Order: sequence, then structure tokens, then C-alpha cells
Amino acid sequence: MSIIIKTKEEIEILRKGGRRLAEVLYKVKEKVKPGISTWELDKYAFGLIKEMGDEPAFLNYKPEGADFPYPASICISVNDEVVHGIPDKGKILKEGDIVSLDLGLKHKNLFTDMAVTVGVGKISASSEKLLRVTEQALMAGIEAAQGGYKVGDISHAIEGFVRPYRYGIVDILSGHGVGKYIHEDPYIPNFGKAGTGPKLVPGMVIAIEPMINNGTKNVVLDKDGYTFRTADGKRSAHFEHTILITDGEPEILTRF
Ligand code: MG
Repeated sequence: MSIIIKTKEEIEILRKGGRRLAEVLYKVKEKVKPGISTWELDKYAFGLIKEMGDEPAFLNYKPEGADFPYPASICISVNDEVVHGIPDKGKILKEGDIVSLDLGLKHKNLFTDMAVTVGVGKISASSEKLLRVTEQALMAGIEAAQGGYKVGDISHAIEGFVRPYRYGIVDILSGHGVGKYIHEDPYIPNFGKAGTGPKLVPGMVIAIEPMINNGTKNVVLDKDGYTFRTADGKRSAHFEHTILITDGEPEILTRF
């Protein structure tokens, strides 16, 4: 697949979809508290999206190599779960947990993608720091996503920001183009060399999503076939925005 440049009309739809996605995720975030199940959060998101007349992008999405389609609207990953955690009635959030909420939205046939990690009640100082650094790493990547720069500049900016903290940067999962499909070219790794890779051209729409571990970068796939966990059981955070490449500063689409 080659990189798909979006038209003016498509960008307008992606802008609207991104705004709606950010609003839904904000509302779900507000629901996160001790005692709620990840299943309830998923149902809530599904209802909000349907109410707007849109579709949850991940529900029934079957990634290459998966045995069965993804069974929920949101990926909810708790503590040592990195990404793609499956909501479950028996999974009840506890004070001190950290929870990554990753949601894709299909609005008028075009996709946007966003993730945040939030604390449940009061969290430890080390978890606070992991969340802060991961969100700042995302912003560093976005700052580097200027028209005329290259994908490697984004990767390098994220890696350069995270390295001093000695966290593990997950390297087998990456950001991606998005819009017509939920996953498009190019891949956007969270580490790499500046000045390398495909050129960032105005009209490109990409999802940047650092996944940062408070320990080893290594992850293992759970027996459920979807959930990635840290190999050492330490916590992981994940933040993601869908952005539009312009002539200068990128535009964050998943914001309201
Ligand atoms: Mg994504």
C-alpha cells in the first residue's frame, strides 16, 4: 500500500470525526474510577458513538494473523498491559491502577485513532511520571511532524525525549497512516534516525502513538490473542493522536 494523501473534503470529515472521537474519549475518561469494569467503559463508549451516528472502528476488526475479530469498541489495557486489552465484565478497576483507553472512530467512512492513559483514583509518583513522560513524548513526536520533514524525524524526536528516563520503548508496535483505513502506510516507529524514511507531505494523516514501559521494552502476547503485556510485568503507558501534516506545524485532529 502506498501513502494516501487526503483531499480537502476528506480532511474536513476527518476533522469532524477527530473532534467527536476526542469528545467520546474524554467522556469515557471521566467514567474511570475504582469499582467500574472495563466492560462497562466499553459499553458506554459504544453507546456514545452510536448515538452520534458513527461506528467504533475496532469492533469486529480482524488484524492480519488474528484468529477472531476484535470483540469490543475500545482497547482497554490495565497496568502491565501495553495495548489491545479486551474489555471484560470481570475486570474491575482498582485505586492506583493505570488504564490505557485506545479508540478508533469511523465517521462518514473515514477513520481517526486516539489513546490516553489515565490513573484510577490516586496513583503512585512513579506511575504519574510514566504517564507524563509518555504524553510529552507524543507531543515531541507531533512537534517534529512538520511538512517537508521525514518520518524518521518523528521517531527520533520520541526516542530522544524518552531515552534520558531509561524507560523501555516498545519497538514491535508503531504509529501509522490513518484515514481511509484504520491502518495505512507509513509505519511510524517510536525510535529511529532523523532524516530517514518517507517524506511528510501536506495532506498526509497519521497516528503517532508512543508505548512506553517502566522497565524492559519487551512485550509478550497474551493467550487471548490480542493483549500485549510487558515481559517483566512492569507498567506501561500509551498516548496517541491523529494529526494532519501541513506546510508547517501539524494540526491535531483528535482534539475538541
Ligand atoms: Mg493507532
